[in-house]
Amino acid sequence: MEDILKNPRNYKINEGFRYVEDNLYCEGIRVCDLLDSEVSGQTITSPVYVYSKRQLETNINNYKTAIQKSGRNMQLNYAVKANMNPSILKLMKKHGVFLTLVSGSELHLALTLGFEPGTLVLNGNGKLDWEVDLACKCGVLINVDSLFNLRQIIRVCQAGGYVAHVLFRINPDIDPDVHSYLSTGQSGCKFGITNEELDSVIQMAWESERIRVLGLHCHIGSTVHDVENFRKSTRILVDLFEKLRNRFRDMKILNLGGGLAVPYKEQILVPEKIKHELHVEFDSCVEPNKLKLYEDLINNRVTLPTFLSTLQTYPGGETTVSKLRQQLHKEMLAPKPDDLVNSVCDILPPHTIAILEPGRSMVVNSAILLSRVLGTKISTQKNYIVIDGSMTEVIRPCLYGAYHHIELAEPSQVKACNQSALDWDIVGPVCESADFLGKGRKMVTPHEGCGIAVFDTGAYCSSMSSNYNMRVRPAELLVDGDKVEIIRKCETFENMMNCYNV
Ligand SMILES: *Cc1c(COP(=O)(O)O)cnc(C)c1O
Repeated sequence: MEDILKNPRNYKINEGFRYVEDNLYCEGIRVCDLLDSEVSGQTITSPVYVYSKRQLETNINNYKTAIQKSGRNMQLNYAVKANMNPSILKLMKKHGVFLTLVSGSELHLALTLGFEPGTLVLNGNGKLDWEVDLACKCGVLINVDSLFNLRQIIRVCQAGGYVAHVLFRINPDIDPDVHSYLSTGQSGCKFGITNEELDSVIQMAWESERIRVLGLHCHIGSTVHDVENFRKSTRILVDLFEKLRNRFRDMKILNLGGGLAVPYKEQILVPEKIKHELHVEFDSCVEPNKLKLYEDLINNRVTLPTFLSTLQTYPGGETTVSKLRQQLHKEMLAPKPDDLVNSVCDILPPHTIAILEPGRSMVVNSAILLSRVLGTKISTQKNYIVIDGSMTEVIRPCLYGAYHHIELAEPSQVKACNQSALDWDIVGPVCESADFLGKGRKMVTPHEGCGIAVFDTGAYCSSMSSNYNMRVRPAELLVDGDKVEIIRKCETFENMMNCYNV
């Protein structure tokens, strides 16, 4: 911790965010300069989500490159529920990404933005008639989730005179080893056709002239670390696919749901304990680049992932890195799109199309929630940093006990002469003890009004935000180099009251 006080942060986090002398930048912009500034005639207030276009495009490209390298016929469908901001969806469209949807409104939005209906997938364990009707009318692929869902699809198609294009959502009964709220493919969970109903579903689909079965789907869960679990569920899907293929001649699609884990602890610096262990290895080193890397490590100028990937390129580095990986918490590392694609590409039958549907991993690290410190509270039991952001903008810590990295976004002006880092709980103003963003974080004391960043808020933050406590939902900004665009206006009191009689 001493190091953090002595050395200003100077390191790159990803393609979008970096620290320069303790100041957080999003591409070309010092993020704290955004607060209270005017963008397109609007004053930017705190809290605000700040997105990096460059990081979004990097994430898209990582998936596209992984697919290209595999040489397989794979389709990339971004799961919209992670973040439905139309500007982000338009960027996806521009780069040839398709969409997976979970509601009629998401479908409506996709159609409004000009996505080709045949490239879209509608999923859900409880679809409404109008949602099914819209999907069938346009030729959107529908994941059949149950016997009653199939009956509903047939009924809607009969009334409208359509033929539905469907995939069967199978429950592969796989434990994806994630938070129980994020597990969606184990027996007993609410998603997918149960084994008990599978034969009846197959029979009913076979008998109906309103149903065209194009393939199979499964979705094992979100934040999956071990890609071996994707492989396992894909094997189950492939086995059933081979069995059903003679019956349903149009079958050609394997829709491989399951969201890749993301490294929520990616921004962290190399733990002190590991620095000590590395000391020995670097002591005898004479290679100038490697010594420079070690100097950056000691001076906190490099994040853990960058350190590992750089070290790996030096002679002997591979061995050290694989040793280190075993000691590190899994949230510091995460599988990459390459790992996901490679885990399944050799078991896909020929002449099939595989649909990948990542949500979180395409957007998560492209945004921060930028807030201001309202004040600090010190006691013998706990120290609090109270900020103007809260669980209404970032509900994941309260909902799943999830970790979001939090750092000051600018240098603290509290005189540092004998200030040492304290343990803080970072909390919001919402009247609810569940309103915390991070607990037990080591940080120097910030001044009132200091900018503070909650990282990795590109997925399941804005899309899960609420008006609880009558808080307006914040603006969203997209940074592109040194340009800023408002991609969502801050809500107003009037917007909030729109649906009420006052
Ligand atoms: C949510 C969802 C995904 C994406 O999950 P992430 O964890 O965000 O990657 C994929 N497929 C379906 C059907 C989903 O509902």
